[in-house]
Amino acid sequence: MTRLFHACPFCTIAPPHILRRLAEAGGPAEREAASRTLDMTRQLRTARMRAMALGAPAVPVEAALLGRRMSGARSTYDADHRTRLPGRLVRGEADGASGDPAVDEAHDYAGITRDFLRQVFRRRSLDGRGMALASTVHFDRDYDNAFWDGGQMVYGDGDGQVFQRFTLCLDVIAHEFAHGITQFTSNLVYFEQPGALNEHFSDVIGCLVKQWHLGQDAKDADWLIGAGLLVPGINGNALRSMSAPGTAYDDPLIGKDPQPAHMRDLYHGTEDQGGVHINSGIPNRVFWRVATEFGGQAWGTAGQVWWSAFTTMLNARASFADAARATIAAAGTIAGTRAASVVRAAWQEAGVRVPAGARVAAGSPAGAPARPAATTGRRAKAAKPAGGRAAKPAKRAAAKVAKPAKRAMGKVAKAAKRTMGKAAGPAKRSMGKPAQRAAGTVKTAHLPTAAKRGAARGGKPAAPRPTR
Ligand SMILES: [Zn+2]
Repeated sequence: MTRLFHACPFCTIAPPHILRRLAEAGGPAEREAASRTLDMTRQLRTARMRAMALGAPAVPVEAALLGRRMSGARSTYDADHRTRLPGRLVRGEADGASGDPAVDEAHDYAGITRDFLRQVFRRRSLDGRGMALASTVHFDRDYDNAFWDGGQMVYGDGDGQVFQRFTLCLDVIAHEFAHGITQFTSNLVYFEQPGALNEHFSDVIGCLVKQWHLGQDAKDADWLIGAGLLVPGINGNALRSMSAPGTAYDDPLIGKDPQPAHMRDLYHGTEDQGGVHINSGIPNRVFWRVATEFGGQAWGTAGQVWWSAFTTMLNARASFADAARATIAAAGTIAGTRAASVVRAAWQEAGVRVPAGARVAAGSPAGAPARPAATTGRRAKAAKPAGGRAAKPAKRAAAKVAKPAKRAMGKVAKAAKRTMGKAAGPAKRSMGKPAQRAAGTVKTAHLPTAAKRGAARGGKPAAPRPTR
C-alpha cells in the first residue's frame, strides 16, 4: 500500500458514481454542475495528496493553533462561491445566528456533533485534544458535494436540480467530522476494505448523532444518511440506507444505489477508491442489525462497542474480518458473551467469516502487537475507551501529526502562535469559569447532574446544553 492511499486525505459525502451518472444523463445544467464538481474534487484531492507527500501537516496550522482556545471552538467561513479556503470568517464560537441558513446549519450541527462526542464518548473534539472545528460554506458554484480535507469541513450549495445545499443534514455533517476522528485514531487507509470501514464508521457516527439529537431509539430511526438531500422529484430518499443498503435511490438521473448488504455482492472494481462508498453497505447493515437486536438507544451499547473497536483496536489496513473480530471482542468485554454472540451472528449473516472463538483484535497502528482492551480483562477500563484522554493508538497518531506540523510551522507560525496566544487570553477570560473548565478538561464536573448520569451511561442527558 503506497502513501498515495494514505488515510482519508480528502473524503466526500456524495459518491463519484452518482456524479458520473449525472454528468452523463443530466440536462445541461446538471451535467455542468456534476462535471465541475468531479473536476474540482479531483484537483483538490491531487493537491492534498501532493502536499502530504511533500510533508505538509495533516492538520492546517491555523486549526492546530485555534484548537488551543477552547475545546472544539467553532469558526464558520464563507467562500463566497470561490474555492479559496477557509474564506471569510462569518461566525465564531460565541456569535449568534447569521441569518444565512448554510452558515447557521454548518455552525449549529458542528456544535451538536462536538457535544455528542463529549457527552456520549467523552472525547474532546475530533483529535481528543480540543481541535477547533472549522467549516466553510458556499464553496464554488453549484458544487455538488461536501468534504473533509484533513483539517476542516467544506460544503457546496448543490445544483438545486438534484442536490440541495449540503449543510441541510445533521448526519452528513457528523459523517464528515467523523472522518477527522478516524484520521486521529485508526487512520484507516481510504481504499478498498479499510476505506469502506472508514466510510462505514462515519456513517455510524452520522446516524448516532442524528438519533441522539432526535432522542430516537434504534427501532424508531430511519437509518438513512442524507435524508432530504435529494430534491423532490428525484426517486430516492437519501444517499445511503444502513438498514437496507442498495435501496436509497433509483432514478434515471443518478442511477441506482449500488451498495451491497452481503459479501457475495462485494464490489471489486477500482472506481470510488475501490468502492469505499459502495462496500460500506456491508458493515453498515451489520451495525444496524446489532443496534436493533440490542434494542434501546443505538449510541448506548452498540455505539460503545463500535467506538471502542474503531478508535482503539483497528489498524490502518484492517479488513472487514478484522473489524468483525474487534467488534466481537469489544462486545464481549463491554456487554458480555451474549452481546458478543449477537455481533458475531450479524457479521456472519453478512457473509463475513469469523473463526469461532476469535477474541483477539485486529492489531494496533504501526504494526505494534495487538493489545486491545478486550485482552486486559478489565471491563471498566475497556468500557470507557474514549475517555477524556485519547487512547494510546490515538495518542501515537496525534503525535505523528503534531511533529511534522510543528516543524512545518517554523518561524512564521511561531510568530502567529504568539499572536494567537494574545488573542486567546481575552477569549479565555470571557468564556467564564465553566467554559474554561470544559476547555481544560473533559471531566463531567461542569455538566449538570442529569448530564453526568447521561454521559456515564452513554445516554443522552435529560436537558442537553444548547449549542449555539
Ligand atoms: Zn465519507
